Amino acid sequence: MIELEGLTKRYGEKVAVNNLSFTVRPGIVTGFLGPNGAGKSTTMRMILGLDRPTAGDVRIDGKHYHQLKDPLTYIGALLEARGVHPGRSAHNHLLCLAQSNGISKRRVHEVLDTVGLTAVAKKKAKGFSLGMGQRLGIAAALLGDPRILMFDEPVNGLDPEGIHWIRTLMKSLASQGRTVFVSSHLMSEMALTADHLVVIGQGRLLADTSMADFIAQNSRSYVRIRTPQRERLLDVLQGAGITAVETGGGVLEVDGGKAEHIGELAARHRITLHELSPQQASLEEAFMRLTAESVEYHAHTGTPPAGQAPAQAQAPWGEGWRKG
Ligand code: ADP
Ligand code: MG
Repeated sequence: MIELEGLTKRYGEKVAVNNLSFTVRPGIVTGFLGPNGAGKSTTMRMILGLDRPTAGDVRIDGKHYHQLKDPLTYIGALLEARGVHPGRSAHNHLLCLAQSNGISKRRVHEVLDTVGLTAVAKKKAKGFSLGMGQRLGIAAALLGDPRILMFDEPVNGLDPEGIHWIRTLMKSLASQGRTVFVSSHLMSEMALTADHLVVIGQGRLLADTSMADFIAQNSRSYVRIRTPQRERLLDVLQGAGITAVETGGGVLEVDGGKAEHIGELAARHRITLHELSPQQASLEEAFMRLTAESVEYHAHTGTPPAGQAPAQAQAPWGEGWRKG
């Protein structure tokens, strides 16, 4: 379990992480989602004790990272910037890590095998592709057989096979009862991997919800309509108590409407339709809306608009942000 409480990081004027409070639980994959620059990597560095919080606290099973004995056996992490000596082989890199954490040499071979690097284990890391580098980073994270795993944007730059492999790995680690915390700036990626979702924007918490709830709340369904008789259709729809919104390019949208109902109404009034299609807004759009609002709110107003504050309202709208 990873627990954050009011975690904050400032770099000069910049508030990179702003009063974040949430818990990452075992047995599931928790996705950490936010646009580039939202503060994901900074948060993860603070969890690992690589960056000192300006305020707040983060604990791993109740302890600070530096209090953990043989930390690699407790929490394994793949960070965005990998620290592999370019002249060192994959095998030697892992062996050094193993020796400094009381981990056996046999385990080095096991993890090389798990990530599929056995064949290139003796090659120097500087010749590694991005994908091989990611796999080596994951091998290092798995080395101590830790109960908690953290991956910062693990699928960045990977080919489809590598992406599929990582997704499967995350899920299997979680199904073994481990805590899995993985960041991404892509909603589509999270939708395929995560059971729980923590969304941040500009360092602030925007959502802390199960993936299922997020999908249920954000998959807007609507009907898209194009017609050469726009005015007439609008009148007819209005008469039937249906609100249509013009979205440009001659397109009308009816939120939550039934295509059959609209089609029959149009037919009854002899209105020609060029398009009548039920649509499902993508989760990516929902994510964009969520984070765009945070940006807009930050730029123009001093108080959160009604209905926008998340459940833990005291966290995102704290004093640190107001000064920022
Ligand atoms: P993410 O991983 O979500 O893309 P980061 O945590 O890397 O976001 O960055 C959050 C914000 O903090 C960004 O605006 C970034 O420019 C800033 N930042 C990160 N590290 C530093 C640093 N060492 N010094 C100054 N600013 C930083
Ligand atoms: Mg990052």
